[in-house]
Amino acid sequence: MRKTMLVLMGLALVAALALALVLPGCGSSASSRTSPQGRTCLANMRTVDSAIESYNALKDAYPKNMQQMVGEMLKKVPVCPAGGKYIWVDGQPPTIKCTIHGTP
Ligand SMILES: [Zn+2]
Repeated sequence: MRKTMLVLMGLALVAALALALVLPGCGSSASSRTSPQGRTCLANMRTVDSAIESYNALKDAYPKNMQQMVGEMLKKVPVCPAGGKYIWVDGQPPTIKCTIHGTP
């Protein structure tokens, strides 16, 4: 189980690096939520939000972190294409925010 998570995180990292190489203008102007990276990031956060809703509908409880939903509601933990970090915000329901792009 722990090993699977490490593999998934490794894959996510590789995917983020590949995106960083492919997408131009990475970094400096990434604060714009209307940039392609910002839109991808917002789409990621909406995916997580709907995964949280699915989790709640199925288990009648909220997940404690994103990893808890991987495999069932999420294929993998999403990665901000601009290099932002997703912060889990506990609550009823919980949500996530990106350190670069904010909340969805
Ligand atoms: Zn972001």
